[in-house]
Amino acid sequence: MLGTSISAIHTGLMPEVIRVEADVSGGFPRFSIVGLPDSAITESKLRIRSAFRNSGLPFPQGRITVNLTPANFRKRGSGLDLAMAIAILRAAAILPADDGTTAFLGELRLSGELAPVETAVSLALRLQAANVERLVLAERQVVPPELAKYMQTIPAVKLTDVIAILTTSTHVNHVTPSVSVPPHDAKHETDLQPGLAALDGIRGKTAEKRLLAISAAGRLPLLLIGPPGIGKTLLATHLVDLFPDLDARTALATLAIRELTGPAGHLYRRPPLRMPHHSLTVAGLIGGGNPPQPGEVTLASEGVLLLDELFEFQRATLDALREPLTHHQVHLARAGRSATLPANFLLVATANPCPCGQRGYGECRCMESDVRRYWSRLSGPLADRIPLIVYLNRQPTTPVPPALDVSAQTLQARVQHAREQLDQSEDDTPSEPPFPRWLDDTAAAFLRKVNERILTSERARQQALRIARTISALEGRETVLKIDIEEAVLLRSHAHM
Ligand SMILES: [Zn+2]
Repeated sequence: MLGTSISAIHTGLMPEVIRVEADVSGGFPRFSIVGLPDSAITESKLRIRSAFRNSGLPFPQGRITVNLTPANFRKRGSGLDLAMAIAILRAAAILPADDGTTAFLGELRLSGELAPVETAVSLALRLQAANVERLVLAERQVVPPELAKYMQTIPAVKLTDVIAILTTSTHVNHVTPSVSVPPHDAKHETDLQPGLAALDGIRGKTAEKRLLAISAAGRLPLLLIGPPGIGKTLLATHLVDLFPDLDARTALATLAIRELTGPAGHLYRRPPLRMPHHSLTVAGLIGGGNPPQPGEVTLASEGVLLLDELFEFQRATLDALREPLTHHQVHLARAGRSATLPANFLLVATANPCPCGQRGYGECRCMESDVRRYWSRLSGPLADRIPLIVYLNRQPTTPVPPALDVSAQTLQARVQHAREQLDQSEDDTPSEPPFPRWLDDTAAAFLRKVNERILTSERARQQALRIARTISALEGRETVLKIDIEEAVLLRSHAHM
């Protein structure tokens, strides 16, 4: 007789759903597992047999064959123990047949107790995407309570508990594992996010903070240029602080991404900030290697990727940024298997204006040719994908209207509002007549004028319009005014390097 069950395992880059088949037939007693199991899975035979005996369950007589499908890649670890035991129990008619709605994750102890798998959130999300409705896992498995919003999770202490769950009730109540929220993730309305408090502590940088807000609201990549000591790295690290909190689903997805590199800890509502060293390789950036690992662009997904001292990075690494910057995902192929990983990050980078760092700010000791070679590392296609390339001022030169001098918390709220407004609006941005409806008449006339003189390429026009639209959204306006275009053109004035 045949029994089946559903589980999932890690394969390095993407979790895979595993369908377990068990066949029990007459003949010489024998227990084999096929479907490319590794040694830990082969040892499951001993654990399952002992777990049956110590749980008072009859181990089926005769020939038992367990098949792990799909069979075309190697399966690792002990997390399939429970699913294999369930498939055998179904094949032996001890349990009712599989209805395909419940999945099982967990290792079996010889006693029949369930042990947690290393990381469960990414597996659970993968199973949910495959229409699994509920998941049985070890009671000691730590999963964030938010997971229960998307999938019914049923904790069990031992194998006989699972049998009771599957036989006594087909409609188990919504159960959430008893997991306490870690104290450092507890959020009180009155607590100011530490990053925002630190940003408030940076005085007299109103224009720079507004620039960060524009970048965050429009998800516009940003390059900050200035001499050493001007504070560009500090500003860049605070870009992520202006991001709104992640919603539960996105927070779970980022936790699932962290799990690809090992145990990932708690669920964080704050978006990730990744700041890799400039020795970063192409594989380190986009993912790959052996064993395969997600790259920085994936680990920074939904958050910020900060490349400090951009020109210290290898040319090949910088060139590899182009695909994820354009498509917000990366394709990785390895040993005949491919995976598409998210890379929905916002890039912020810093750079000196020249090798000595003083050009335009102090006495520059560089030769023209050195400066040209220095800037050539920012290849045209990469520069084209960074709409905000801005030279920082040593002193505030243009007085900022008091209305713009707001707290970091207010800025963050405006970023959130602006993002919602921009996400809802249509994506049509004709940068030449007929202009879009949301462009005010005076703004349209001004744009026509600068299109002729300053914004000479289609990409430059599109980017200026995107920046202007982000600025108007930050101000809570639907209509783009002339002042928004002016500010956008000013912000783009250095983008022709
Ligand atoms: Zn110089």
